[in-house]
Amino acid sequence: MNRWVYLFSEGSKEQRDLLGGKGANLAEMTKLGLPVPTGFTVTTEACLYYLNHGDQLTDEVKNQVMTAVEQLSVKTGKKFGDLNNPLLVSVRSGSKFSMPGMMDTVLNLGLNDQTVAALASNSQNERFAYDCYRRLLQMFGNVVLGLDNSIFESRITALKKENGLSFDNELTADHWKQIVSEYKGIYREELQREFPQDPIEQLYLAIEAVFGSWNNARAKTYRRLHGISDDLGTAVNIQEMVFGNFGETSGTGVVFSRNPSLGDPGLFGEYLINAQGEDVVAGVRTPKPIQVLAEDMPEQFNQLKAICENLETHYQDMQDVEFTIEREKLFILQTRSGKRTSKAALRILLDFFNEGIISEEALVNRIEGKDLEAALHPNFDEAALKRRVSFLSGLAASPGAATGAAYFSADAATEAKARGERVVLVREETSPEDIEGIAISEAVITSRGGMTSHAAVVARGMGICSVVGCERLTVMENENKAMVGDEMIEEGTVLSVDGSSGKVYFGEIPMEEVGHTVALDELHAIWDRHAAIKVRANAETPKDIETGMALGAVGIGLARTEHMFFEKTRLLQFRRLILADSLAERLEVLKELKTVQKQDFKYMYEAAKGRPTTIRLLDPPLHEFLPKNAEECREVAKELGKTFNEVKRKTDNLAEVNPMLGFRGLRLGVAYPEIYQMQAEAIIEAACEVREEQAFSIQPEIMIPFTIDAGEFAHVRQAIEEAIQKNLRHNQTTLDYQIGTMIEIPRACFVADQIAQYADFFSFGTNDLTQMALGLSRDDSPRIVTQYLDVGIFEDDPFQVLDKAGVGALMKLAIERGRKVNPQLKIGVCGEAAAHPKSIDFLYELGIDYISCSPFRIPQAKMTLAKATVENVLS
Ligand code: PEP
Ligand code: MG
Repeated sequence: MNRWVYLFSEGSKEQRDLLGGKGANLAEMTKLGLPVPTGFTVTTEACLYYLNHGDQLTDEVKNQVMTAVEQLSVKTGKKFGDLNNPLLVSVRSGSKFSMPGMMDTVLNLGLNDQTVAALASNSQNERFAYDCYRRLLQMFGNVVLGLDNSIFESRITALKKENGLSFDNELTADHWKQIVSEYKGIYREELQREFPQDPIEQLYLAIEAVFGSWNNARAKTYRRLHGISDDLGTAVNIQEMVFGNFGETSGTGVVFSRNPSLGDPGLFGEYLINAQGEDVVAGVRTPKPIQVLAEDMPEQFNQLKAICENLETHYQDMQDVEFTIEREKLFILQTRSGKRTSKAALRILLDFFNEGIISEEALVNRIEGKDLEAALHPNFDEAALKRRVSFLSGLAASPGAATGAAYFSADAATEAKARGERVVLVREETSPEDIEGIAISEAVITSRGGMTSHAAVVARGMGICSVVGCERLTVMENENKAMVGDEMIEEGTVLSVDGSSGKVYFGEIPMEEVGHTVALDELHAIWDRHAAIKVRANAETPKDIETGMALGAVGIGLARTEHMFFEKTRLLQFRRLILADSLAERLEVLKELKTVQKQDFKYMYEAAKGRPTTIRLLDPPLHEFLPKNAEECREVAKELGKTFNEVKRKTDNLAEVNPMLGFRGLRLGVAYPEIYQMQAEAIIEAACEVREEQAFSIQPEIMIPFTIDAGEFAHVRQAIEEAIQKNLRHNQTTLDYQIGTMIEIPRACFVADQIAQYADFFSFGTNDLTQMALGLSRDDSPRIVTQYLDVGIFEDDPFQVLDKAGVGALMKLAIERGRKVNPQLKIGVCGEAAAHPKSIDFLYELGIDYISCSPFRIPQAKMTLAKATVENVLS
């Protein structure tokens, strides 16, 4: 014989599959000795059997239900249909996962024309009894027999109108009797049947209705949208009724064991005196905050508080609890994990840990990336966002949310900002000249570029929200407008940008109220104890470095020195350098540049406070710095005191068909060794001075970009070392330093053993390595990648999630070859893909020492690394 029915006293919380979430929790609470009204659960297996065998309850199921009803009678001293002491039950559905859309509740089942009289005399309250009866008729008609609730409600409304009354609680016993009679009429008119008077028949019909509702259209849609299997089925919970509407010493309510918005400890919720469950949600009367119960009924409040604390500790989670007080006696009707905001989720987990409810490992394991992310950045108000439809989407390049007026050039944005406007910079793509415009913007949107494009990298570095690669966006920068299909964005059009979802909306969306800030320091200390791979920051400005350190970086893994030339005056100096006609002219510019670079590096060292700092020598794809058109050539010529023709000729000479694969990185270092020498000297001098002034011990890590070949690297290393040694001799001092290389070209991976003979460390630049390994441009790829994702050729964007099979294999090879020559070789990864949670397991497999990423990605990366260790993914 199969077991289809379990008493609450027979189950446990582990049996969610069989008893559903609600049933398993009712059983668990019964086991804990909490005041749960007695009851039993008909299993999900009974549901599946019912659905697969002609929608009929078998005799076996019915017999087991009857036996359970008898046991319920023994425990309660009440009987179905008894004219003195009738048993009344609630019937509720409960699948493994909570599922709105299914039939949920029928209350007061067991009432009929006879038992209603018994209830009236037992309660000495006829009005109450007939109100209960009409509720049964209404709920049964609606949820079991499918009648529209408004047919019932309209009768109540009409009756109130006839009698000049406003509220249900003004209706008398006679009114409810009249309603009961009218409701029975509805059954006859609409269904050509009588309301079933036999409680057992009521019960079987209700159980069948719950089972059947598993397959209704709403439930199916909900499951499809939430990825819930159709094969789970739902259980049915049958439980003795307790009445919150028994008068002034009764009530009902819903409480969270902690505040679900902010996570504050203490009960949070509301209740109504003299009311039944659905009155609280129906909003007819305004419920009171739960704290008022402490005055209304202090004993019950304290008992409820203690139970909630008990449940929280038992489940190790914040609980959402339904309770009823019947004539001063408290009953718990349901408990489940409470839904909460991201901010509350973090706060609650930390508090649980500090209160000793969960272990450190559980804390690490249970924090979710989306909650951490949401807690670190401003977000739109969730409810407001739900009501809005985005008109544009792209890659979610930098998280956060912001609203501002659209401007199409950095200058226009800056002017608008100066007028006091909040601005959103909308560009086809950004370049170094836009840097100040980006810095003052609330958000940046581009139509081109991927996750490693200029806009994405810079915005992420600054913590400014950004959506890039919006394919449907056509930006007409010269006309100060942009189009998305037929929709036009004009200068000043207000846009709301969600950098976490990659969606853009017209108009303003209110922001979420800022609650507590996350106790990040505490979390970092915990993550650091667990994560085997360290996390550094990709940062170069003092502000970004400080942000990186505040967000938990153990050092700087990549300071891109070309980013130091994005500011207007620097850009000019840099242009002077690359447009110089002779070595003499270059040396003259370099002398000036060395002074400013040295100061830059000093600021960096001071901000890094003695933490390891990797500074990468210039790696500008030159096209990012060259004047873009004749007008810009004219401007640059004027600023540099050169003729237009000189600037134009030089710019044309330097123009490359494919600058990403051109004159950049070490190629620049070979052609103009004096540039790298200047930078190396500035790095060393700055380190010596800060060491002196601040007493930090500093060992600079000088990183050479874009190495192809060991000989090439050795050649430039020698030039740099000569300059450094000469400088140290000149200053009569010594300093430890390291010179290593980026590994970002496939060939470098293959010859890593040769390069490792000269390099002190490797840092994988997976942005370029992905570009070259896949042969997909990092700036133009979104279109292709999107298509490949749509068709299912790619599972993930390889610029976001490390391509393990290709790029990963190259990295593995390079590490093996490099470490064969130098087992101590320090290895990092500083491309964007490293910080993606989906890349982390593989990084552990590689055996690297650290990853480096944009400051705002650090907490999430550290959390994922720690989680991976705790979950023992390595085993
Ligand atoms: C890389 O290529 O991965 C890298 C970090 O360098 P950049 O993005 O500056 O080319
Ligand atoms: Mg690179």
